[in-house]
Amino acid sequence: MNRPFNFSAGPAAMPQEVLEQAASEMLDWHGSGMGVMEMSHRGQEFTSIYTQAESDLRELLAVPANFKILFMQGGGLAENAIVPLNLSRAGKADFVVTGSWSKKSLKEAARYCSTQLIASNEASRHTELPDPASWEFSQGASYVHVCTNETIDGVEFQTLPDLKALGCDAPLVIDFSSHVASRPVDWSRVGLAFGGAQKNLGPAGLTLVVVREDLLGHALGVCPSAFDYKTVADNNSMYNTPPTYSIYMAGLTFLWLKRQQEGSLSGIAAMAQRNLAKATLLYQAIDNSTLYRNKVNKDCRSRMNVPFFLRDESRNEAFLAGAKAAGLLQLKGHKSVGGMRASIYNAMPLAGVQALVDYMQAFEQKQV
Ligand SMILES: *Cc1c(COP(=O)(O)O)cnc(C)c1O
Repeated sequence: MNRPFNFSAGPAAMPQEVLEQAASEMLDWHGSGMGVMEMSHRGQEFTSIYTQAESDLRELLAVPANFKILFMQGGGLAENAIVPLNLSRAGKADFVVTGSWSKKSLKEAARYCSTQLIASNEASRHTELPDPASWEFSQGASYVHVCTNETIDGVEFQTLPDLKALGCDAPLVIDFSSHVASRPVDWSRVGLAFGGAQKNLGPAGLTLVVVREDLLGHALGVCPSAFDYKTVADNNSMYNTPPTYSIYMAGLTFLWLKRQQEGSLSGIAAMAQRNLAKATLLYQAIDNSTLYRNKVNKDCRSRMNVPFFLRDESRNEAFLAGAKAAGLLQLKGHKSVGGMRASIYNAMPLAGVQALVDYMQAFEQKQV
């Protein structure tokens, strides 16, 4: 089946092979006589799905043995509360604000602990990233929060800040919701990473948390039991019923990721190379045009979310209608910033980005 290319920021397009496999297994998973949605989460069938998904993800992302992988619920926004409820035992945390999502994280955490804004790119309207060397860490903060890919503003850290090298002993907490599995992660620099699944891993309903073991077991007394990382870890993410179908779909996506190849590269390394090629193609088309522009500094442009604006905004509706007719869906920018946004997560092939670029060029030529 030939489907349109879907540029949604999330919930986002999934690999077609994954959807086809799920469809074929909908009524009867592996001869069990049950669909995955209908299985007990404690039965041997779902246990094998869960165990396989966890170990495939650990292998794909090269998660070290001293980190726990947790499958939770509540999305990135719930983690904005769950992280301070678990980690803020010293009563304060540092925040770097680089766009809409980190701003939200800071605001939510302030309900549970004292928060310190240690760096911001507000002055550049979220088009640059503050140099980690300039961050002024507070004494004794429990953790430092950074959103490593700002989905709305389109800014991405190309490397993770090395807090230790900067004289800060606090663990780094990253919100990697919108670029998880798009590139390798340097776990030596991370204490905890969280992300909703619906951008790059699978359907909504599943939240991934990867947390260093020494950070478990310090939750505040008011932390709900179902959100205490130690409780979740001790019960293999089955303290309460996990989002079983979303875990299954993410598991199929992990297997798809493992099969991906680019030259001699496979898995996440292959995805990183393909994602770079996709982003380069799109940004070059924007930069070389007189109609489109992207405002983000070139050294921190997101490879996943590409916001762009038409210089003649009265053409926005015509651009979107023509795109839809050409089989290019969900390109409208986030309501808070307007314009357009092309989200080009792992499931978007290079051919989809090429089709978008071809359409953009044809639309531009019609203007003159
Ligand atoms: C989408 C997103 C979120 C919010 O996720 P929910 O699942 O809606 O709670 C948080 N952070 C980032 C960076 C996101 O892209």
